[in-house]
Amino acid sequence: MAKRKQKEIDVCPNCGTKVEKPEKTWNLISPLPDAQGRITITVMGSYVCPKCGHKWRGVVSKIKAGGSSVEVEGKKGVKKIGGEEDNKTKDEGEIIELDLSDLDEEE
Ligand SMILES: [Zn+2]
Repeated sequence: MAKRKQKEIDVCPNCGTKVEKPEKTWNLISPLPDAQGRITITVMGSYVCPKCGHKWRGVVSKIKAGGSSVEVEGKKGVKKIGGEEDNKTKDEGEIIELDLSDLDEEE
């Protein structure tokens, strides 16, 4: 994994202290869908440094919803829900029924 050039959102830009949780979060919903017709929901966070009292805001995560899948973009990367993965599950879930009484008759 390549290191991010961008600074971590939960690290104080003033003194470098890592903050566990944002003081509060809220969602920003983009009214314009992207190229794939999905709506982007941006989760914003407001942080307060417990060490120096510095306050800042940043993007906690992004959620792309719409179409056949939902994408959640967070600290651990992009997580896809539905779409291709959903189709795979359907194929693997196919049940082939064997009729044992037919085998008995052949013996
Ligand atoms: Zn600080």
